Amino acid sequence: MVKMVEAPEGVEGQGFFATSLDKVIGMARANSLWPLPFATSCCGIEFMATMGANYDLARFGSERLSFSPRQADLLMVMGTIAKKMGPVLKQVYDQMAEPKWVIAVGACASSGGIFDTYSVLQGIDRIIPVDVYVPGCPPRPEQIIEGVMKIQDLARNENLRRRNSDEYKKMLESYNIETL
Ligand code: SF4
Repeated sequence: MVKMVEAPEGVEGQGFFATSLDKVIGMARANSLWPLPFATSCCGIEFMATMGANYDLARFGSERLSFSPRQADLLMVMGTIAKKMGPVLKQVYDQMAEPKWVIAVGACASSGGIFDTYSVLQGIDRIIPVDVYVPGCPPRPEQIIEGVMKIQDLARNENLRRRNSDEYKKMLESYNIETL
């Protein structure tokens, strides 16, 4: 079933509808997220199910996957991230244009999962900021969809000035990520 999007809050009268730019842009962003699936292991298979006909992420406007960071705004990290892979993941994040959001899908991406060992990154938030964590080993497709819906909430309600704020720049600097 196609999900129809409600108009944002506004003032309505005969022949007109007025709202704020923040709300219109938030609505457009939230319903056209382009995910970049950074899948390294089993959680990636759950994501494939999420894209399939039963769960159908297209209902949320996110069927257009991007394997090019410059044409993606939602980084979905799914699977065990070895420390050697860390710089690659960070480079992918760096190459994405603002505004961008990140989901850590599953226990491995969120915390290293069962791999409490010298070679595995104990959570991707050690190298890049994360907006939403999806628990599970692996999470079911419903959980992944819920994670995407949480990102939609963030995108819908984000103040347009947030990305230029000192707070946001400081957060990126704490990850040694260059701000423009
Ligand atoms: S969280 Fe579990 S299912 Fe997901 S990548 Fe790690 S081991 Fe595999």
